[in-house]
Amino acid sequence: MLIEEKRDRDKLLNEYCFICGLQRAMIEENGDFEIHRNEEHNPWNYIFFVRHLKEKNPREYSIIEKYVANENEKESHIWVPLKRAMCVRDKIILQD
Ligand SMILES: [Zn+2]
Repeated sequence: MLIEEKRDRDKLLNEYCFICGLQRAMIEENGDFEIHRNEEHNPWNYIFFVRHLKEKNPREYSIIEKYVANENEKESHIWVPLKRAMCVRDKIILQD
């Protein structure tokens, strides 16, 4: 069972971006999926950014940091680019 779960998870991570959820094929119409998920939407960058906000003095936040911190406080993740990516920004995304 664990092997099957791992296989399913690996397949999902290989087919979809963990951050935006866009499918590999859609991203590859405009660029390279590996570059997208390793650079543009590298999950570690999001984790490090949230960690950075927790460690930084809120009085020293930039406007963007303040916005993200406020959204996180409300448990809103609207700042995460769900179904959005720079490489497909000019296309209408109809995936659910
Ligand atoms: Zn993405």
